[in-house]
Amino acid sequence: MLYYIEHAIFTLVLAVLISIYYRKGPQQFFRVIVLALKELPGVKAIIDGVLKKEVSSFVKTTSLAQDVTKSKPIVRIPETGISFDDLRQQMKNLQKRDANPERDGNVFAYQYTLHDQNFELQEEAFDAFCEKSGHSVEHDGLVKEFFHGFMHENALNPMIYPALRLMETEVVSMTASMLHGNREVVGFLTSGGTESNLMAVKTYRDMALATRKGIGKPNIVAPITVHPTIDKAAHYFGLDIIHTPMSADFTADVKAMEEAINGDTVMLCASAPQFCHAVVDPIEDIANLALKKGLPLHVDACFGGFMLPWVEKLGYPVPKFDFRVPGVTSMSADVHKYGFCVKGASVICYKNADIRKHQIYAYSEWPGGLYGSPSMAGTRPGGNIAAAWAAMKALGEDGYMAKAKSLMDITTKMINKIKTIEGIYIMGQPCMTAFAIGSRDDAINIQAVADVMETKGWKMERNQLPDSLHCSILPHHAHIADKFLTDLEDSVKHCKDNKALAKKGTAGVYGMMANIPDKGIVTDFLVEFFSEVYKCK
Ligand SMILES: *Cc1c(COP(=O)(O)O)cnc(C)c1O
Repeated sequence: MLYYIEHAIFTLVLAVLISIYYRKGPQQFFRVIVLALKELPGVKAIIDGVLKKEVSSFVKTTSLAQDVTKSKPIVRIPETGISFDDLRQQMKNLQKRDANPERDGNVFAYQYTLHDQNFELQEEAFDAFCEKSGHSVEHDGLVKEFFHGFMHENALNPMIYPALRLMETEVVSMTASMLHGNREVVGFLTSGGTESNLMAVKTYRDMALATRKGIGKPNIVAPITVHPTIDKAAHYFGLDIIHTPMSADFTADVKAMEEAINGDTVMLCASAPQFCHAVVDPIEDIANLALKKGLPLHVDACFGGFMLPWVEKLGYPVPKFDFRVPGVTSMSADVHKYGFCVKGASVICYKNADIRKHQIYAYSEWPGGLYGSPSMAGTRPGGNIAAAWAAMKALGEDGYMAKAKSLMDITTKMINKIKTIEGIYIMGQPCMTAFAIGSRDDAINIQAVADVMETKGWKMERNQLPDSLHCSILPHHAHIADKFLTDLEDSVKHCKDNKALAKKGTAGVYGMMANIPDKGIVTDFLVEFFSEVYKCK
């Protein structure tokens, strides 16, 4: 009897799988199999074991190996404090280990500093600007002074720190007017692009729940190229995100967005520009769609907010992307990127106070008193607010314009040269000081090119789906652009002559990943990676 039941179940499962294979294709088929296998008793433990082993052998191939694999006793607070001089020495040693783009010019993301240590080699316009205003290297010093001057203050309470409130509202107002907002536009300073985007999503979720009826699980419609902080926000705040494909030029496919909208959609999101390829989504079309559907539109300008306005003013073609476009209801812009502030400063702006009020949290029944807080953080560091204020006031429009001009000159030079290298190309129409390099030649694996570049000392930023290399251009690239271009040309040639490289190194990992049908395995790997490397061993 049991045999027949088992047999029937087996046949049924097989039938379901075969039908999935034919209806949804092999990708979906393998996904279902993997998901089902994972649920079997014992299998999960085996997968976890394999995962741990894979991660620890991967870590051994990275620069983290020496720290993570060395066994050290638990680190305790020193019984007696270490002398300042010793600590200063330790600081020097610690700093030597980290990337230093200002010294090496070899990094294409993460650090956005105004000066580079060889800035005397830069374009004339910027030199003239430095001479005139004494800025640049000094800029950093001034920002630090303001940071230090307010580093113990706390913007949690606007009554006790009126100067912080004044500086914050001025930073928001300066940002809003740079983005062509009118007097109605309001916002807050946050700790970074992530917090700004988290807040936009929370605001629109709460606004929809407060003003609309019959919403099930709220969702966001956004192109696949929006920054993962939007996915993170959806995850944190219990929304779904419906990703739509990109068009051939890597911008959002507006028609696909329209088709994706349903009765539970509470916001649209697009980027100016998106980080991967630095192309600006068709904001005007998406805004029209938003207006037609009665939905808010968040434009993530974390990356470009402090660059696109100046690039447009310089006369480069930039599609309309900001509050000039009627359907745009909020924007995020990072002062700690091209605003040239220290880390920990971004602005989230809303079209009006009616929208913004859904961001603010308030609680009135705590025994500790009335509590209100505008964003994720409770205690909000005063240093970052003051530093953002000082960075913007010190640079001024002329400073930002000079910087944008010198960076666009470097970017244009690099793009023009890359276009002449056979086998690789610039993806889409990058609108500012960044671009992505792809390959249309099957003989050239761009991830392998990145591997070769890394042996030459460069730290490459890898895009995937499709594979390409992201470059954000900063002042520290001025003196090193020529070397980069020569190395790139050599690396492309080298990969063309050595096809086996595509199967090795990080290129091999990306190649393998592209073939894994169940991306859950990859995310499990990432989680295990973080839990492995953030340990004091
Ligand atoms: C950097 C960036 C973010 C996230 O900002 P963080 O400062 O890293 O938190 C979001 N969106 C875009 C387009 C970005 O470039």
